[in-house]
Amino acid sequence: MFKRILIANRGEVAVRVIRACRELGVECVSVYSTADKDCMHTKLSDRSICIGPPQPAKSYLNINNIISAAAVTNCDAVHPGYGFLAENPEFEESCTSNDLVFIGPPSKVISLAGNKSRAIEVMRNSRIPVIPGSNGNVKDASNALKFCKRLGYPVIIKASFGGGGRGMRICKDKKDMLYFFPLAVSESKSSFGVGEVYIEKYISKPKHIEFQIVADNFGNITCVGERECSIQRRHQKLMEEAPAVNLSSRTKKIMKEYAIRAAKIINYKNLGTIEFLVDENENFYFIEINTRIQVEHPITEMVTGIDLVKEQIKIASGIKNTLSDSNNKISGHAIEFRINAEDSENKFAPCPGKITDCFLPGGPGVRVDTYIHSNSEISPFYDSLIAKLVIWANTREEAISRSVRALDEFKIDGIKTTIPFHKKILSKDNFKLGKIHTHFIEEEIGI
Ligand code: ADP
Repeated sequence: MFKRILIANRGEVAVRVIRACRELGVECVSVYSTADKDCMHTKLSDRSICIGPPQPAKSYLNINNIISAAAVTNCDAVHPGYGFLAENPEFEESCTSNDLVFIGPPSKVISLAGNKSRAIEVMRNSRIPVIPGSNGNVKDASNALKFCKRLGYPVIIKASFGGGGRGMRICKDKKDMLYFFPLAVSESKSSFGVGEVYIEKYISKPKHIEFQIVADNFGNITCVGERECSIQRRHQKLMEEAPAVNLSSRTKKIMKEYAIRAAKIINYKNLGTIEFLVDENENFYFIEINTRIQVEHPITEMVTGIDLVKEQIKIASGIKNTLSDSNNKISGHAIEFRINAEDSENKFAPCPGKITDCFLPGGPGVRVDTYIHSNSEISPFYDSLIAKLVIWANTREEAISRSVRALDEFKIDGIKTTIPFHKKILSKDNFKLGKIHTHFIEEEIGI
């Protein structure tokens, strides 16, 4: 096991990793920008080091400063959390060449997964079901038009190196394609540094279902269950559930086998997620691989009893994966609510500022992963996720009523949050009935 881990992140995920380290008896070093000097993660770790000014490019994305912080504190491993450098192959390489174990997969795997159109090609060639679409990137609008004539509309243009639900354009006809193709290319270039795009058939009202992979350094690849992430706004997840809702156990079982196969094809290591879209007839299609611990990992922890972050650290240190696909039982139902510092009444505008007062819910089946407290300052420089409310109960019905109760208890004063929006979702009959898909919010709430 490692002696000391540097956590190259901030906010709730840094706190989550510190908790896992503590339970494993591993020391932890935090890094912080000058904006985060008093942030929770700096207080809970054994040591903390300033790595630069508030701008992410100068601190949490500054590979040299982070590697130097790990070197001067004699760390033997680095946990990247999610976001920031978590899926940056150069960061993995810098860690490795400085004798630091990167807690995640090797750079080759990160690079392949990061190139979404390439990852889809690899899966297609290995007979994993993928969405009908272009074989790799599409060069220009005229090729796109020719291709879509055969494929049929509607289609979606996606940035090959895109992420976080950004860089996608839906085209319902030829006219849309001519208009959106150059836009998609330039957006992809400005947001992700590469103007490469690919095209997929647009699936109407799909479910987003993803599988949690745990893979050690010795080729033992297991899957510990699935998550439903269909409640999205603008292709970004807002609320997640485990297990999947209204999906037959037969489909789940087959998808799980494909997820394990997909991970084996690319010789996956450490924790990862294989994502699929599922259409109304339960046809499913691989869309991408995420090579990090996911924001929504706690719901899997709640229904399996597995501490995924501890497993992740153990595996990276060379300990064998002792989990198996069959003996991990799924128990009850879990729902995660992403509490963002955003004004849901005003187009979800970011709402940084000071939290004047705060009360976290508790009681049976309630878990809150957060770094906030009364008087904490929410910085405008970083992601707006400030807390995750995670609910567990025996049944989905009970989990929903417990969620309403916990959201009612949750008080955050001084800034606007997504708490009221979550209550709105829970009040919808179709949500209660489990009739959910990626357009649920648009259809039911009209935004
Ligand atoms: P990102 O990496 O940016 O999260 P994904 O490829 O994982 O992008 O897709 C995010 C979401 O976008 C999906 O969960 C789904 O809601 C929507 N989406 C992506 N591809 C399609 C498609 N072909 N048809 C319909 N919706 C899609």
